[in-house]
Amino acid sequence: MSTRASKPEPGPSVAGLPVNNMVTEVSRICTLLTCLILIAMPAAGAPTALTDVRIIDGTGGAPVENGVLVVDGGRIIAVGHADNVTIPDDAEQQSLAGKTLTPGFINSHGHAGAIRGLESGHYSRQNLLRQLDLYARYGVTTVVSLGDDESEGFALRNQQNTPTLDRARLYVAGPVLSARTPEEGRTLVDTTAGLSPDFIKIRVDDNLGRTPKMSADVYQAISKRADHHGIPLAVHTYYLQDTKDLVRAGADFIAHSVRDVHVDNEFVDLMLASNVCYTPTLTRELSTYVYESEPDFFADPFFLREADPAVLATLREPERQQRVRESAAAQQYKASLPIAMANVKMLTDAGVQIAMGTDSGPPARFQGYFEHLEMWMMQDAGMTPMQILHSATGGAADCMGLSETGTLTVGNWADMLVMGENPLEDIRHTRSLEQVWIAGKPIHLAR
Ligand SMILES: [Zn+2]
Repeated sequence: MSTRASKPEPGPSVAGLPVNNMVTEVSRICTLLTCLILIAMPAAGAPTALTDVRIIDGTGGAPVENGVLVVDGGRIIAVGHADNVTIPDDAEQQSLAGKTLTPGFINSHGHAGAIRGLESGHYSRQNLLRQLDLYARYGVTTVVSLGDDESEGFALRNQQNTPTLDRARLYVAGPVLSARTPEEGRTLVDTTAGLSPDFIKIRVDDNLGRTPKMSADVYQAISKRADHHGIPLAVHTYYLQDTKDLVRAGADFIAHSVRDVHVDNEFVDLMLASNVCYTPTLTRELSTYVYESEPDFFADPFFLREADPAVLATLREPERQQRVRESAAAQQYKASLPIAMANVKMLTDAGVQIAMGTDSGPPARFQGYFEHLEMWMMQDAGMTPMQILHSATGGAADCMGLSETGTLTVGNWADMLVMGENPLEDIRHTRSLEQVWIAGKPIHLAR
Protein backbone atom coordinates (compact mmCIF):
# COMPACT_ATOMS: atom_id res chain seq x y z
CA MET A 1 0.00 0.00 0.00
CA SER A 2 1.84 3.03 -1.19
CA THR A 3 0.76 6.55 -1.77
CA ARG A 4 1.90 7.20 -5.29
CA ALA A 5 3.63 10.45 -6.18
CA SER A 6 1.28 12.93 -7.78
CA LYS A 7 2.17 15.05 -10.80
CA PRO A 8 5.71 14.23 -11.95
CA GLU A 9 8.04 17.14 -12.46
CA PRO A 10 8.27 18.17 -16.11
CA GLY A 11 11.21 16.54 -17.82
CA PRO A 12 12.31 14.29 -20.67
CA SER A 13 10.10 11.33 -21.38
CA VAL A 14 10.28 7.88 -22.88
CA ALA A 15 7.08 6.39 -24.27
CA GLY A 16 5.10 9.08 -22.54
CA LEU A 17 6.56 8.38 -19.10
CA PRO A 18 8.88 11.02 -17.67
CA VAL A 19 12.37 9.57 -17.25
CA ASN A 20 12.79 10.97 -13.75
CA ASN A 21 9.60 9.19 -12.72
CA MET A 22 10.34 5.91 -14.42
CA VAL A 23 12.89 4.48 -12.02
CA THR A 24 10.57 4.91 -9.06
CA GLU A 25 7.60 3.63 -11.01
CA VAL A 26 9.52 0.65 -12.32
CA SER A 27 10.98 -0.38 -9.00
CA ARG A 28 7.79 0.18 -7.11
CA ILE A 29 5.03 -1.23 -9.21
CA CYS A 30 6.02 -3.02 -12.37
CA THR A 31 5.78 -6.72 -12.85
CA LEU A 32 8.35 -8.21 -15.22
CA LEU A 33 5.75 -8.33 -17.98
CA THR A 34 4.70 -4.70 -17.83
CA CYS A 35 8.30 -3.55 -17.54
CA LEU A 36 9.16 -5.41 -20.72
CA ILE A 37 6.19 -3.75 -22.43
CA LEU A 38 7.39 -0.38 -21.21
CA ILE A 39 10.91 -0.93 -22.49
CA ALA A 40 9.62 -2.35 -25.75
CA MET A 41 7.48 0.70 -26.50
CA PRO A 42 8.40 2.02 -29.92
CA ALA A 43 9.69 5.50 -30.57
CA ALA A 44 7.09 8.11 -31.41
CA GLY A 45 5.83 7.70 -34.93
CA ALA A 46 5.79 3.90 -35.21
CA PRO A 47 2.39 2.24 -34.88
CA THR A 48 1.64 -0.09 -31.97
CA ALA A 49 -0.54 -3.18 -32.36
CA LEU A 50 -2.17 -4.70 -29.29
CA THR A 51 -3.06 -8.30 -30.10
CA ASP A 52 -4.84 -11.40 -28.73
CA VAL A 53 -7.06 -9.25 -26.55
CA ARG A 54 -10.77 -9.17 -25.67
CA ILE A 55 -12.07 -5.81 -26.90
CA ILE A 56 -15.12 -4.12 -25.41
CA ASP A 57 -15.36 -1.14 -27.73
CA GLY A 58 -17.70 1.05 -25.66
CA THR A 59 -20.54 1.13 -28.22
CA GLY A 60 -22.57 -1.35 -26.20
CA GLY A 61 -21.95 -4.06 -28.81
CA ALA A 62 -20.76 -7.57 -28.00
CA PRO A 63 -17.09 -7.99 -27.06
CA VAL A 64 -14.62 -9.15 -29.69
CA GLU A 65 -12.47 -12.09 -28.61
CA ASN A 66 -9.01 -12.40 -30.21
CA GLY A 67 -9.10 -8.72 -31.10
CA VAL A 68 -6.41 -6.43 -32.48
CA LEU A 69 -6.15 -2.68 -32.04
CA VAL A 70 -3.59 -0.55 -33.83
CA VAL A 71 -2.56 2.90 -32.63
CA ASP A 72 -0.62 5.52 -34.54
CA GLY A 73 -0.11 9.21 -33.82
CA GLY A 74 -2.21 8.92 -30.66
CA ARG A 75 -5.27 7.63 -32.46
CA ILE A 76 -6.83 4.28 -33.30
CA ILE A 77 -6.10 3.43 -36.92
CA ALA A 78 -7.52 -0.12 -36.96
CA VAL A 79 -9.57 -2.28 -34.58
CA GLY A 80 -11.47 -5.55 -34.81
CA HIS A 81 -11.15 -9.32 -34.87
CA ALA A 82 -7.65 -10.55 -35.75
CA ASP A 83 -8.97 -11.93 -39.05
CA ASN A 84 -10.16 -8.50 -40.13
CA VAL A 85 -7.26 -6.25 -39.13
CA THR A 86 -4.07 -5.84 -41.13
CA ILE A 87 -1.17 -5.03 -38.82
CA PRO A 88 1.26 -2.56 -40.45
CA ASP A 89 4.71 -4.05 -41.17
CA ASP A 90 6.49 -1.50 -39.00
CA ALA A 91 4.18 -1.91 -35.97
CA GLU A 92 5.49 -2.96 -32.60
CA GLN A 93 3.30 -5.82 -31.44
CA GLN A 94 2.28 -6.51 -27.86
CA SER A 95 0.26 -9.55 -26.93
CA LEU A 96 -2.41 -8.92 -24.28
CA ALA A 97 -3.59 -12.53 -24.17
CA GLY A 98 -6.20 -13.15 -21.47
CA LYS A 99 -6.76 -9.46 -20.87
CA THR A 100 -9.59 -7.07 -21.69
CA LEU A 101 -9.30 -3.74 -23.49
CA THR A 102 -11.96 -1.07 -22.89
CA PRO A 103 -12.17 2.66 -23.60
CA GLY A 104 -11.02 4.92 -20.78
CA PHE A 105 -13.83 5.85 -18.43
CA ILE A 106 -15.70 9.14 -18.75
CA ASN A 107 -16.96 10.77 -15.57
CA SER A 108 -19.89 12.84 -16.79
CA HIS A 109 -20.18 14.77 -13.52
CA GLY A 110 -17.00 15.60 -11.66
CA HIS A 111 -15.32 18.66 -10.24
CA ALA A 112 -11.66 19.50 -10.42
CA GLY A 113 -9.15 22.01 -9.20
CA ALA A 114 -10.36 23.40 -5.89
CA ILE A 115 -9.72 20.83 -3.17
CA ARG A 116 -6.54 19.79 -1.39
CA GLY A 117 -7.07 17.24 1.34
CA LEU A 118 -10.45 18.24 2.77
CA GLU A 119 -9.94 21.94 2.17
CA SER A 120 -11.35 24.09 -0.63
CA GLY A 121 -9.87 27.28 -2.07
CA HIS A 122 -6.88 25.76 -3.87
CA TYR A 123 -7.95 26.25 -7.49
CA SER A 124 -4.84 26.38 -9.66
CA ARG A 125 -3.36 24.87 -12.78
CA GLN A 126 -1.03 22.76 -10.65
CA ASN A 127 -3.87 21.40 -8.51
CA LEU A 128 -5.95 20.69 -11.61
CA LEU A 129 -3.07 18.73 -13.13
CA ARG A 130 -2.55 16.82 -9.87
CA GLN A 131 -6.21 15.79 -9.85
CA LEU A 132 -6.36 15.02 -13.58
CA ASP A 133 -3.37 12.71 -13.05
CA LEU A 134 -5.18 11.04 -10.16
CA TYR A 135 -8.29 10.47 -12.27
CA ALA A 136 -6.10 9.08 -15.04
CA ARG A 137 -4.29 6.65 -12.73
CA TYR A 138 -7.70 5.14 -11.96
CA GLY A 139 -8.57 4.88 -15.65
CA VAL A 140 -10.90 7.89 -15.71
CA THR A 141 -9.47 9.43 -18.87
CA THR A 142 -12.14 12.12 -19.27
CA VAL A 143 -13.81 14.31 -16.66
CA VAL A 144 -16.66 16.66 -17.33
CA SER A 145 -16.47 19.23 -14.56
CA LEU A 146 -19.97 20.53 -13.96
CA GLY A 147 -19.25 23.80 -12.27
CA ASP A 148 -16.83 26.02 -10.36
CA ASP A 149 -14.38 26.02 -13.26
CA GLU A 150 -12.00 28.92 -13.59
CA SER A 151 -9.72 30.21 -16.34
CA GLU A 152 -6.97 27.63 -15.64
CA GLY A 153 -9.52 24.86 -16.29
CA PHE A 154 -10.63 26.44 -19.56
CA ALA A 155 -6.97 26.74 -20.60
CA LEU A 156 -6.33 23.06 -19.92
CA ARG A 157 -9.50 22.15 -21.84
CA ASN A 158 -8.15 24.12 -24.79
CA GLN A 159 -4.73 22.43 -24.68
CA GLN A 160 -5.67 18.75 -24.70
CA ASN A 161 -6.26 18.00 -28.36
CA THR A 162 -2.75 16.64 -28.80
CA PRO A 163 -1.03 13.25 -28.99
CA THR A 164 1.33 14.35 -26.19
CA LEU A 165 -1.53 14.49 -23.64
CA ASP A 166 -0.63 12.54 -20.49
CA ARG A 167 -3.53 13.30 -18.09
CA ALA A 168 -7.32 13.02 -18.03
CA ARG A 169 -9.18 15.19 -20.50
CA LEU A 170 -11.15 18.00 -18.88
CA TYR A 171 -14.38 19.63 -20.00
CA VAL A 172 -15.80 22.59 -18.12
CA ALA A 173 -18.98 24.49 -17.27
CA GLY A 174 -17.62 27.65 -15.66
CA PRO A 175 -19.47 29.00 -12.60
CA VAL A 176 -22.68 27.39 -11.38
CA LEU A 177 -25.24 30.03 -12.33
CA SER A 178 -27.37 31.36 -9.53
CA ALA A 179 -29.99 33.97 -10.47
CA ARG A 180 -33.07 35.46 -8.83
CA THR A 181 -34.80 36.89 -11.89
CA PRO A 182 -35.11 35.80 -15.53
CA GLU A 183 -33.20 38.90 -16.62
CA GLU A 184 -30.33 38.15 -14.25
CA GLY A 185 -30.34 34.56 -15.52
CA ARG A 186 -30.06 35.64 -19.15
CA THR A 187 -27.22 38.04 -18.35
CA LEU A 188 -25.30 35.32 -16.49
CA VAL A 189 -25.72 32.93 -19.42
CA ASP A 190 -24.43 35.58 -21.83
CA THR A 191 -21.37 36.25 -19.66
CA THR A 192 -20.62 32.54 -19.19
CA ALA A 193 -21.14 31.82 -22.89
CA GLY A 194 -18.28 34.24 -23.56
CA LEU A 195 -15.96 31.72 -21.89
CA SER A 196 -17.01 28.95 -24.33
CA PRO A 197 -18.04 26.39 -21.71
CA ASP A 198 -19.01 22.84 -22.65
CA PHE A 199 -22.10 23.10 -20.42
CA ILE A 200 -24.11 25.68 -18.52
CA LYS A 201 -24.78 24.42 -14.98
CA ILE A 202 -27.58 25.39 -12.61
CA ARG A 203 -28.94 24.04 -9.32
CA VAL A 204 -32.66 23.64 -8.77
CA ASP A 205 -32.77 22.38 -5.21
CA ASP A 206 -33.73 23.65 -1.77
CA ASN A 207 -31.19 21.45 0.07
CA LEU A 208 -33.92 19.58 1.95
CA GLY A 209 -35.88 22.74 2.58
CA ARG A 210 -32.97 24.74 3.97
CA THR A 211 -32.35 27.20 1.11
CA PRO A 212 -34.46 29.00 -1.53
CA LYS A 213 -34.88 27.12 -4.79
CA MET A 214 -34.42 28.67 -8.24
CA SER A 215 -37.90 29.40 -9.57
CA ALA A 216 -39.31 28.04 -12.81
CA ASP A 217 -39.41 31.38 -14.63
CA VAL A 218 -35.68 31.82 -13.94
CA TYR A 219 -34.56 28.40 -15.14
CA GLN A 220 -36.86 28.61 -18.14
CA ALA A 221 -35.15 31.88 -19.12
CA ILE A 222 -31.70 30.37 -18.53
CA SER A 223 -32.55 27.31 -20.59
CA LYS A 224 -33.80 29.41 -23.49
CA ARG A 225 -30.72 31.61 -23.41
CA ALA A 226 -28.36 28.62 -23.24
CA ASP A 227 -30.16 27.22 -26.29
CA HIS A 228 -29.67 30.53 -28.06
CA HIS A 229 -25.91 30.16 -27.51
CA GLY A 230 -25.99 26.46 -28.45
CA ILE A 231 -24.68 25.37 -25.06
CA PRO A 232 -26.26 22.35 -23.34
CA LEU A 233 -27.82 22.89 -19.91
CA ALA A 234 -26.88 20.51 -17.05
CA VAL A 235 -29.11 20.65 -14.00
CA HIS A 236 -28.58 19.69 -10.39
CA THR A 237 -31.92 18.37 -9.14
CA TYR A 238 -33.28 16.30 -6.28
CA TYR A 239 -37.09 16.19 -6.61
CA LEU A 240 -39.07 14.32 -9.26
CA GLN A 241 -41.46 17.21 -9.93
CA ASP A 242 -38.62 19.69 -10.49
CA THR A 243 -36.85 17.27 -12.79
CA LYS A 244 -39.96 16.82 -14.92
CA ASP A 245 -40.40 20.59 -15.11
CA LEU A 246 -36.72 21.03 -16.02
CA VAL A 247 -36.94 18.50 -18.83
CA ARG A 248 -40.04 20.32 -20.12
CA ALA A 249 -38.08 23.57 -19.91
CA GLY A 250 -35.38 22.13 -22.17
CA ALA A 251 -32.71 20.85 -19.78
CA ASP A 252 -30.20 18.67 -21.61
CA PHE A 253 -28.57 16.69 -18.82
CA ILE A 254 -29.89 15.52 -15.43
CA ALA A 255 -26.80 15.72 -13.24
CA HIS A 256 -28.06 13.69 -10.24
CA SER A 257 -30.56 10.98 -9.44
CA VAL A 258 -34.16 11.79 -8.70
CA ARG A 259 -34.22 10.66 -5.10
CA ASP A 260 -37.20 12.03 -3.20
CA VAL A 261 -39.65 9.48 -4.64
CA HIS A 262 -39.69 6.67 -7.18
CA VAL A 263 -39.85 7.84 -10.79
CA ASP A 264 -43.06 7.24 -12.73
CA ASN A 265 -44.05 6.54 -16.32
CA GLU A 266 -44.67 10.20 -17.03
CA PHE A 267 -41.03 10.96 -16.20
CA VAL A 268 -39.76 8.04 -18.26
CA ASP A 269 -41.81 9.21 -21.25
CA LEU A 270 -40.50 12.77 -20.87
CA MET A 271 -36.88 11.58 -20.70
CA LEU A 272 -37.28 9.32 -23.74
CA ALA A 273 -39.18 11.88 -25.80
CA SER A 274 -36.58 14.59 -25.18
CA ASN A 275 -33.59 12.18 -25.42
CA VAL A 276 -32.16 13.55 -22.18
CA CYS A 277 -29.40 11.64 -20.32
CA TYR A 278 -29.31 11.00 -16.60
CA THR A 279 -26.35 10.50 -14.29
CA PRO A 280 -27.00 8.69 -10.99
CA THR A 281 -24.13 10.07 -8.82
CA LEU A 282 -24.88 7.35 -6.24
CA THR A 283 -21.54 7.94 -4.56
CA ARG A 284 -22.52 11.57 -3.98
CA GLU A 285 -25.37 10.33 -1.78
CA LEU A 286 -23.04 7.80 -0.16
CA SER A 287 -20.53 10.52 0.70
CA THR A 288 -23.11 12.51 2.65
CA TYR A 289 -23.47 9.88 5.38
CA VAL A 290 -20.86 7.15 4.97
CA TYR A 291 -18.34 8.86 7.24
CA GLU A 292 -20.69 8.37 10.19
CA SER A 293 -18.48 5.34 10.80
CA GLU A 294 -15.48 3.83 9.06
CA PRO A 295 -16.45 2.94 5.47
CA ASP A 296 -15.63 -0.55 4.20
CA PHE A 297 -13.54 0.96 1.41
CA PHE A 298 -11.03 2.30 3.94
CA ALA A 299 -9.71 -1.29 3.94
CA ASP A 300 -9.57 -1.58 0.14
CA PRO A 301 -5.99 -1.59 -1.21
CA PHE A 302 -7.31 -0.17 -4.52
CA PHE A 303 -8.49 2.87 -2.51
CA LEU A 304 -5.53 3.05 -0.15
CA ARG A 305 -2.92 3.13 -2.91
CA GLU A 306 -3.86 6.77 -3.59
CA ALA A 307 -5.55 7.87 -0.37
CA ASP A 308 -4.02 10.64 1.73
CA PRO A 309 -3.43 9.25 5.27
CA ALA A 310 -4.09 12.69 6.80
CA VAL A 311 -7.54 12.81 5.18
CA LEU A 312 -8.33 9.31 6.43
CA ALA A 313 -7.25 10.28 9.94
CA THR A 314 -9.64 13.24 9.91
CA LEU A 315 -12.52 11.15 8.60
CA ARG A 316 -11.86 8.62 11.37
CA GLU A 317 -12.18 11.17 14.18
CA PRO A 318 -14.96 9.94 16.53
CA GLU A 319 -16.41 13.44 17.08
CA ARG A 320 -16.61 14.01 13.34
CA GLN A 321 -18.31 10.66 12.81
CA GLN A 322 -20.77 11.47 15.58
CA ARG A 323 -21.67 14.79 13.93
CA VAL A 324 -22.54 12.91 10.72
CA ARG A 325 -24.63 10.39 12.67
CA GLU A 326 -26.52 13.27 14.28
CA SER A 327 -26.98 15.29 11.08
CA ALA A 328 -30.60 15.23 9.94
CA ALA A 329 -29.51 16.08 6.39
CA ALA A 330 -27.00 13.24 6.26
CA GLN A 331 -29.58 10.77 7.49
CA GLN A 332 -32.16 12.01 4.98
CA TYR A 333 -29.68 11.63 2.12
CA LYS A 334 -28.91 8.15 3.44
CA ALA A 335 -32.61 7.32 3.15
CA SER A 336 -32.59 8.74 -0.40
CA LEU A 337 -29.96 6.34 -1.70
CA PRO A 338 -32.16 3.23 -2.03
CA ILE A 339 -34.71 5.37 -3.91
CA ALA A 340 -31.97 6.65 -6.22
CA MET A 341 -30.79 3.08 -6.85
CA ALA A 342 -34.30 1.83 -7.65
CA ASN A 343 -34.80 4.77 -10.02
CA VAL A 344 -31.58 4.01 -11.93
CA LYS A 345 -32.76 0.46 -12.46
CA MET A 346 -36.21 1.54 -13.66
CA LEU A 347 -34.81 4.16 -16.04
CA THR A 348 -32.24 1.74 -17.45
CA ASP A 349 -34.91 -0.90 -18.07
CA ALA A 350 -37.05 1.73 -19.81
CA GLY A 351 -34.21 2.63 -22.18
CA VAL A 352 -33.19 6.02 -20.77
CA GLN A 353 -29.49 6.62 -21.45
CA ILE A 354 -27.51 6.62 -18.22
CA ALA A 355 -24.11 8.35 -18.08
CA MET A 356 -21.76 7.29 -15.32
CA GLY A 357 -21.06 10.25 -13.06
CA THR A 358 -20.11 10.71 -9.45
CA ASP A 359 -19.93 14.36 -8.46
CA SER A 360 -16.43 13.53 -7.21
CA GLY A 361 -13.99 16.31 -6.39
CA PRO A 362 -15.57 17.97 -3.33
CA PRO A 363 -14.04 16.93 0.01
CA ALA A 364 -14.15 13.17 0.76
CA ARG A 365 -15.53 12.37 -2.68
CA PHE A 366 -12.42 10.61 -3.87
CA GLN A 367 -11.57 11.27 -7.50
CA GLY A 368 -10.73 8.12 -9.41
CA TYR A 369 -11.75 5.59 -6.79
CA PHE A 370 -15.32 6.89 -6.56
CA GLU A 371 -15.87 6.29 -10.28
CA HIS A 372 -15.16 2.57 -9.70
CA LEU A 373 -17.32 2.56 -6.57
CA GLU A 374 -20.09 4.24 -8.56
CA MET A 375 -19.99 1.48 -11.18
CA TRP A 376 -20.02 -1.21 -8.49
CA MET A 377 -23.08 0.47 -6.91
CA MET A 378 -24.77 0.66 -10.32
CA GLN A 379 -24.38 -3.11 -10.49
CA ASP A 380 -25.85 -3.41 -6.99
CA ALA A 381 -28.77 -1.32 -8.29
CA GLY A 382 -29.43 -3.93 -10.98
CA MET A 383 -27.64 -2.70 -14.09
CA THR A 384 -25.66 -5.27 -16.07
CA PRO A 385 -21.89 -4.91 -16.47
CA MET A 386 -22.34 -4.15 -20.19
CA GLN A 387 -24.91 -1.43 -19.44
CA ILE A 388 -22.55 0.06 -16.87
CA LEU A 389 -19.50 -0.05 -19.15
CA HIS A 390 -21.51 1.58 -21.93
CA SER A 391 -22.67 4.29 -19.52
CA ALA A 392 -19.04 4.98 -18.60
CA THR A 393 -17.69 5.03 -22.18
CA GLY A 394 -19.58 5.43 -25.45
CA GLY A 395 -22.89 6.20 -23.77
CA ALA A 396 -21.34 8.96 -21.70
CA ALA A 397 -19.55 10.32 -24.78
CA ASP A 398 -22.87 10.54 -26.63
CA CYS A 399 -24.51 12.23 -23.66
CA MET A 400 -21.72 14.76 -23.23
CA GLY A 401 -21.25 15.47 -26.94
CA LEU A 402 -17.69 14.07 -27.03
CA SER A 403 -16.86 12.81 -30.50
CA GLU A 404 -13.21 11.72 -30.26
CA THR A 405 -13.11 9.54 -27.17
CA GLY A 406 -15.36 7.04 -25.42
CA THR A 407 -15.29 4.25 -27.99
CA LEU A 408 -12.51 2.16 -29.49
CA THR A 409 -13.29 3.09 -33.06
CA VAL A 410 -11.05 4.20 -35.92
CA GLY A 411 -10.17 7.88 -35.75
CA ASN A 412 -10.74 8.29 -32.01
CA TRP A 413 -7.99 9.13 -29.56
CA ALA A 414 -6.57 5.87 -28.16
CA ASP A 415 -7.75 6.48 -24.58
CA MET A 416 -8.07 2.96 -23.22
CA LEU A 417 -7.71 0.57 -20.32
CA VAL A 418 -6.22 -2.90 -19.99
CA MET A 419 -7.83 -5.07 -17.30
CA GLY A 420 -6.52 -8.40 -16.07
CA GLU A 421 -10.01 -9.75 -15.46
CA ASN A 422 -13.12 -9.52 -17.60
CA PRO A 423 -15.44 -6.75 -16.29
CA LEU A 424 -18.40 -8.30 -18.13
CA GLU A 425 -18.32 -11.14 -15.60
CA ASP A 426 -18.51 -8.74 -12.67
CA ILE A 427 -18.11 -4.96 -12.88
CA ARG A 428 -15.98 -5.15 -9.72
CA HIS A 429 -13.24 -6.49 -12.02
CA THR A 430 -12.58 -2.87 -13.01
CA ARG A 431 -10.23 -3.02 -10.00
CA SER A 432 -7.99 -5.36 -12.05
CA LEU A 433 -6.91 -2.28 -14.03
CA GLU A 434 -3.35 -2.86 -15.27
CA GLN A 435 -2.68 -0.17 -17.86
CA VAL A 436 -4.10 3.24 -18.70
CA TRP A 437 -3.46 4.66 -22.16
CA ILE A 438 -4.15 8.24 -23.13
CA ALA A 439 -3.76 9.42 -26.74
CA GLY A 440 -1.98 6.22 -27.71
CA LYS A 441 0.56 6.03 -24.87
CA PRO A 442 0.61 3.97 -21.67
CA ILE A 443 0.66 6.71 -19.05
CA HIS A 444 0.11 4.40 -16.12
CA LEU A 445 1.00 0.78 -15.46
CA ALA A 446 -0.70 -0.26 -12.27
CA ARG A 447 0.77 -3.65 -11.57
ZN1 LIG B 1 -21.53 18.60 -8.84
